[in-house]
Amino acid sequence: MRKPENIEWLYLDFDGFFASVMQQVYPKLRGKPVGVVPFAGTDRTVVIACSKEAKARGCKNIMAVRDAKQICPSILLVPQEPDLYRRAHNALLAEINTVIPISAIKSIDELTCWLDKRQSENPHELARVIKDRLAKYVGPHITCSIGFAANRQLAKIACKMDKPNGVTIWTPDMVPEVLFGLPFDDIPGIGDRMARRLHMAGIHDMEKLMKMPAKHMRKIWRSVNGERLWYALHGYEFQAQETERGMFGHGRVLPPEERDLPSAKNIARLLLRKAARRLRRAEYYASSLILWLAIDGGSAGRHIRLPYVNDDKAILDALDLAWTEATARLGRVKVYRVHVTLLDITLASKRQLDLFVSDDKDRKRWEAVTGASDHLNMKYGKTIVSMGEWKPPKGGHVGAKISFTRIPSAEDFL
Ligand SMILES: [Mg+2]
Repeated sequence: MRKPENIEWLYLDFDGFFASVMQQVYPKLRGKPVGVVPFAGTDRTVVIACSKEAKARGCKNIMAVRDAKQICPSILLVPQEPDLYRRAHNALLAEINTVIPISAIKSIDELTCWLDKRQSENPHELARVIKDRLAKYVGPHITCSIGFAANRQLAKIACKMDKPNGVTIWTPDMVPEVLFGLPFDDIPGIGDRMARRLHMAGIHDMEKLMKMPAKHMRKIWRSVNGERLWYALHGYEFQAQETERGMFGHGRVLPPEERDLPSAKNIARLLLRKAARRLRRAEYYASSLILWLAIDGGSAGRHIRLPYVNDDKAILDALDLAWTEATARLGRVKVYRVHVTLLDITLASKRQLDLFVSDDKDRKRWEAVTGASDHLNMKYGKTIVSMGEWKPPKGGHVGAKISFTRIPSAEDFL
């Protein structure tokens, strides 16, 4: 366990996601109180999400339609369109991934990113770049709130402090005092049942809870989770224990002697093959590739669309294209960090149903070749067959080294 001296994570949460996607897509809903409902034409259901205008009038998510209409007679009820939310989610993630690699997708409208040293030095600017990019390339009616802190738990709490469209930065010196005034409700990890238990123990506010020794929290929780929460809320960073969802990515900080573009490209290819291997092992196909580079004075990145694929040939070809586009005007720059991500994934079993896949003979052949080489590499426990040159960088393993959110499995070290 480590106590970071600066912020290391951002947590991003889209504001009233379903409702704002509707407002982005249907101009007549903009600026109006909107409630998204499961089906049209009945009052015997609930509002599953409401717009900020509806929230301002007192409506809440998961509220009976009857109650919502009473509080806000002008509310516009619209039936949900899950496919639209999925597409918006993919588009938004792709844009964010070109600014900063996403470390974990927490839900359809929440995600976290790890910050490298340069990113953590100017969080205001990073938040502005993300927000500008989303507004420009997806739409200005889908806004997000961003929290920055030493760990993800704190960043998540910070993120909810200034909604909608806010930015909240909690540097380590502000913790835990900044939590003192918050209700237990605002703390993920303190549910209703635990709040009751705390009140029974005579602890009625966060200040008192935070001033207790960590061991006491363990006692009240009757598990080590209480103690873990204490450390998280005091700004400590744990080894991440969760698995990412919805994407397969790898990143690496480059050693000083490999910061030129050709070396960085070689490493990008290695990282991508690792990611593709994990994608296949999980029996997924991807239809997007994101390349992201930290370079002198900023970042460069590209988002490439693919048909649903999982073979090395298709994926490496896409990387070549992304690389060419991203670096075309760069000249001689230093590359400090490279990150590749495969996303917009779909299960192999579902892919056949997708209408816009046209499986040509070539694709099938490359899938067979890739499958055979995976099999050999698994069998011999190392990389003996690969597409193109396999030249691991200095410093050892390619994939397993920077894994912010994932528990690596043995195969990642091949
Ligand atoms: Mg949200």
